[in-house]
Amino acid sequence: MSVFTVLNPATEEPVTTVTQASAEEADEAIARASAALPAWRAVAPGDRARLLRAFAAAVDAASEELAGLEVAGSGHPIGAARWEAGQVRDVLMYYAAAPERLSGKQIPVAGGLNVTFHEPVGVVGLIVPWNFPMPILSWGMAPALAAGCTVVAKPAEVTPLTGMRIASLALEAGLPEGVFQVLPGKGSVVGQRLVDHPLVRKIVFTGSTEVGQRIMADCARQVKRLTLELGGKSANIVFADADLEKAAATAPYAVFDNAGQDCCARSRILVQRSVLGTFMERFETAVQGVAVGDPSSAATEMGPLISAAHRSHVASYVPDGAPVAFRGHAPSGPGFWYPPTVLAPVDLDDPAYTEEVFGPVVTVTPFEDEAEAVAIANDTPYGLSGSIWTRDVGRAIRVARAVETGNLSVNSHSSVRYWTPFGGFKQSGLGRELGPDAPDAFTEVKNVFISTEDS
Ligand code: NAD
Repeated sequence: MSVFTVLNPATEEPVTTVTQASAEEADEAIARASAALPAWRAVAPGDRARLLRAFAAAVDAASEELAGLEVAGSGHPIGAARWEAGQVRDVLMYYAAAPERLSGKQIPVAGGLNVTFHEPVGVVGLIVPWNFPMPILSWGMAPALAAGCTVVAKPAEVTPLTGMRIASLALEAGLPEGVFQVLPGKGSVVGQRLVDHPLVRKIVFTGSTEVGQRIMADCARQVKRLTLELGGKSANIVFADADLEKAAATAPYAVFDNAGQDCCARSRILVQRSVLGTFMERFETAVQGVAVGDPSSAATEMGPLISAAHRSHVASYVPDGAPVAFRGHAPSGPGFWYPPTVLAPVDLDDPAYTEEVFGPVVTVTPFEDEAEAVAIANDTPYGLSGSIWTRDVGRAIRVARAVETGNLSVNSHSSVRYWTPFGGFKQSGLGRELGPDAPDAFTEVKNVFISTEDS
């Protein structure tokens, strides 16, 4: 039996211990999910909708408890953790409307009636990373349940607490046993079992591109359905005609949110050379102003990194002699703290510029014109997110169309909205989550022809 000690990243104190499931226990959970499937898919659409609304209400009632668990177990600032718990409630409410709208098509044919049905794909294995344990769980779980699938979810090793509590809230809300289970455990054990087990018909994986590539290869053996949400190295492109004040004031939050442990982090700032000096002055003031500290304080904007190992990994991108332009603040003493760090000028082969750091480190690179900005932005294997700052509407649209990423914001750093589609180009992912069509990704389209011939 393997037991994992969850540490508070802000204090390094143990929070609690969690028993990690074995491969046999994963098989048992998958068998329960498979056994629960026929009854769950047969629940009348209106009743499934009511159960999901009850689940959302249970999450809402427990939101302070959930937020507290995320502060203690993941080091998220309390304001962010409350938003994340609210996101689970809202995503459940949004997809509670889906069972009654999962309609197929009637397609004109000769000699009969042709209709399509959206059948639930079956048992879904949902593999969640540690950076946003609650929202990412909900993005997979809610549309899958709405589509009539049953779900076995595996939280990341280091952040199992909120997912486990959300699973118990599902039962309290009246979801039948086996419909939604959360199984803490290792990726190599429970995660791998979800990928390999033939009764799991779809994998939804959010995590690193490296692990995602392996999972994709493993899923191929069973032609298993797969959604991948992977890494990012997104650009924040600031043109000379932008509202520079606002662009500089908001840039820290586009990359240092969640201490940079955000797949959408705009970790490459590209600035038109003619305004580089002005931008850097204002950006420095903004970076100095980021409130880094005790996650339980409502005023805190950035907490610690998730673990000592991850802090060492982040620090490896800023070796002695690295081109540090300036830094923000971070507490000293216990806790996995790392200050907001701005690197400039950087070589274009510097790993801090080419790789996903997943910490509060950002590079600033000048560009001459629109064509160069687009070329630099696209010079990465990733394509998840990004921002464009300009007052020229035509340019905003041209650049938004030219940048190869799944989610862009103009004159804003908008975060993920559950009612709009989310996902990556290139090696940032495969498929889309969220938005109105997400339940379709958990269904197979079945075509049925009914003859009207008089026999
Ligand atoms: P990770 O790839 O190490 O782990 C992600 C999950 O996969 C964990 O639950 C882990 O236990 C599990 N896992 C590991 N090996 C496995 C295996 N062989 N089989 C099945 N499951 C396995 O990623 P992480 O460090 O937890 O998260 C950080 C990464 O996630 C970053 O690259 C980040 O960009 C990415 N991410 C992407 C999105 C997105 O929506 N695109 C969102 C958040 C995070």
